[in-house]
Amino acid sequence: MSEPTPFEVAIVGAGPIGIELAVCLTRAGVPYLHLDAAQIGHTLTWWPRNTSFFSTTERLALAGVPIPNSHQGRITGEEYLAYLRAIVEQFDLRINTYEPVTAIERVERGFMLRTAPLAGERRYHARRVVLAIGDMHWPNRLGIPGEDLPHVSHYFRDPHDYFRRRLLIVGGKNSAAEAALRCWRAGALVTLSYRGSRLDERRVKHWLLPDLEAQFAAGTIRFLPETTPMAITPTCVELARPSGPPLRHETDFVLLATGFRGDQRLLESLGVELRGENRVPSFNPETMETNVPGVYLAGTVAAGIQQRYTLFIENCHEHAGKITRAITGHWPAALGDVAARSYGLAFEQFEAN
Ligand SMILES: Cc1cc2nc3c(=O)[nH]c(=O)nc-3n(C[C@H](O)[C@H](O)[C@H](O)COP(=O)(O)OP(=O)(O)OC[C@H]3O[C@@H](n4cnc5c(N)ncnc54)[C@H](O)[C@@H]3O)c2cc1C
Repeated sequence: MSEPTPFEVAIVGAGPIGIELAVCLTRAGVPYLHLDAAQIGHTLTWWPRNTSFFSTTERLALAGVPIPNSHQGRITGEEYLAYLRAIVEQFDLRINTYEPVTAIERVERGFMLRTAPLAGERRYHARRVVLAIGDMHWPNRLGIPGEDLPHVSHYFRDPHDYFRRRLLIVGGKNSAAEAALRCWRAGALVTLSYRGSRLDERRVKHWLLPDLEAQFAAGTIRFLPETTPMAITPTCVELARPSGPPLRHETDFVLLATGFRGDQRLLESLGVELRGENRVPSFNPETMETNVPGVYLAGTVAAGIQQRYTLFIENCHEHAGKITRAITGHWPAALGDVAARSYGLAFEQFEAN
């Protein structure tokens, strides 16, 4: 029996950028296989409820398809998930959800992908592989005793969970600042522990910082600068200080807003070079092809371990275009100027009319 014809491309990951690439390949008539370890847009599914994007809406639109938005403000993660579902429906994208890719090996004429769907195990053959797996697989762990206790979490789910309870938030960037304000407004008794002496205005959304500092000044949210958690018990957190004995802080819940990092094992096993402290994958910026011929990167995976975010949805759209051009020889037309195409005419065009 002859081997089945390999897929032209296998896209691993159906976050926003994996989906954008799938639309470009569908429009170009390129046969591909698309897999996601969980549901589409999985990274957005664990955002705290009702969290708005920092990015403005027109910058999040995929493949030139406008995002319906009745209020002209920033949309929430839930609204974006609804948009992703609509895109998948509109283009009838075939995505094998809940099918993690567990291994990729180089074989004759391409790659063999091994997957672990809900039941059993599968193998697929593809000429090229695009890794669109994002960069937020795991929380950055502190590695301290008590980190896995049931009242401790790395994920902020909903301010309601902390209503009329004491909450210690650890961190000093956007997510910690936003969680502190939202939980206090939802009736929690909030304390923020941060290793720095003050919050850095480059790392906190410009509209959050003055609000938070006003609460510190009013004493409605307590700020513990220059403190670092050393151990967590069921009732308190031991916080180291630059001098003096550790502070024993009593609390009901602990939220560790210490950021996330990507799983780079597929990259490593394929032989993709990872450079420097941030383990940035080596790739050709014209094509997004890595140092391993036939292996491409799309989306935030291309930034490595982002300690300071450099890649977001808004500056990853071009990855889908570059990969489509590398495969078909043509830039996908609808990816041109997303803002101008999706949100009406550019100013000059408007005046010319
Ligand atoms: C609270 C919060 C607010 C944010 N705000 C913004 C913002 O304002 N603007 C912005 O641009 N970004 C924001 N981000 C980051 C945003 O989530 C990412 O920029 C975006 O999700 C990256 O898209 P992506 O397609 O590159 O990867 P992802 O969305 O991370 O998608 C990767 C996909 O790959 C799948 N996957 C991973 N490994 C495998 C595997 N082995 N096999 C199969 N599938 C796999 C995952 O399940 C996932 O669905 C925010 C993040 C958080 C947590």
